[in-house]
Amino acid sequence: MNIICPFCDSTNVEKIEIKEIIKVPFCDNVVISHPTFRCSNCEEEGDFDNSLDKALTIAIDKANNMSALSLMEELSHNGITMTYLEKALRLPFRTTSRWKRGEISHSALALLRIIRVSPRLLEVADDNFSPEAIAKYQISRPLDFFEKNTTNPWVSLTLEQNLLGICFTGNILSSVPHSTVQEVKWETA
Ligand SMILES: [Zn+2]
Repeated sequence: MNIICPFCDSTNVEKIEIKEIIKVPFCDNVVISHPTFRCSNCEEEGDFDNSLDKALTIAIDKANNMSALSLMEELSHNGITMTYLEKALRLPFRTTSRWKRGEISHSALALLRIIRVSPRLLEVADDNFSPEAIAKYQISRPLDFFEKNTTNPWVSLTLEQNLLGICFTGNILSSVPHSTVQEVKWETA
């Protein structure tokens, strides 16, 4: 098939190889090499045969499937079985088996990534999003931080005029960057 330059209609077109790097969360970057074209007549370059979008879609789908698999393996490795995940999220039986076979939607993949960031959300879902489970979840984030990053961590509670206060005190390890400490500042409604 002769490729025609869409800018000047010349057939004096050469093929060049381009590299695209796609970042996939929790997964290696996907690098794809794809032919693109350069017109020797007008010097325009581009995807003259409109094949790049399709190749990118295929590569991203493949990377998403790999990413879903490794996210599920990682969860299992950390003691969260797929049976528990389905139960907690009220998913139909064997949903995750379909995900493993590559039948996974973008929204399901987004859900796995969110759980990867915050696995404790599964406990909230498992408890049918009860206010108690949500409150526990909100407290867990700074608590995790203090357990991991401080020496002599101390949690104290105050109750004044029906207002409950929680104070976390501890010596932040010198290896923890100051910006992380800022990030963990936390408020709940
Ligand atoms: Zn041209």
